[in-house]
Amino acid sequence: MESFFDIIRKIKEQNFKFDTNEFLEYVRFSIIKIYNGIYNNKIDSLYDVCSKELINTMTKNKDTFRLSKNIDNFQIQFSNIHDYVEKNNEEFIKVYLSIFCYDKTLHDGDYFWNDIWIVTLKKEISKNSSNIFECDKCGATMTLKDSILSCNYCNNKKMLSNYYSQWKIVDIVVQK
Ligand SMILES: [Zn+2]
Repeated sequence: MESFFDIIRKIKEQNFKFDTNEFLEYVRFSIIKIYNGIYNNKIDSLYDVCSKELINTMTKNKDTFRLSKNIDNFQIQFSNIHDYVEKNNEEFIKVYLSIFCYDKTLHDGDYFWNDIWIVTLKKEISKNSSNIFECDKCGATMTLKDSILSCNYCNNKKMLSNYYSQWKIVDIVVQK
């Protein structure tokens, strides 16, 4: 088993600007977005953070993902990077999440759960541009300052968190 620091070192060899805390924040944000989107039947906006296949899987297996209509509390209590795999020019990061959820209608027996979600993210842009911020409007190089990227040519600005949106959630394994 590789140490956490070995895993992070490998990720940073391929992803120069990678920051573990920012990446995990992006993953937590995406998971909550996916959960709420499927829960509320609003899935159109989810395709920018995950694959269609994942939404299909979650929609067909709602019990597995605690997508019952009675769940009124869904929290991510802990998150960390679990693994990194690079093969055939594709990169995958696995993230470990500890999920707490609560069913307000069940009061006999179990009504809250702690599940482990192993979330796989796949990087979806070409490798050679991963170390450079490119403007999505004009293609020029962008400069990073105070978590904001500014295009050196057209002055287009975006939050750094968009940097992580190249990572899409493609799989979730739930351990109950
Ligand atoms: Zn630009």
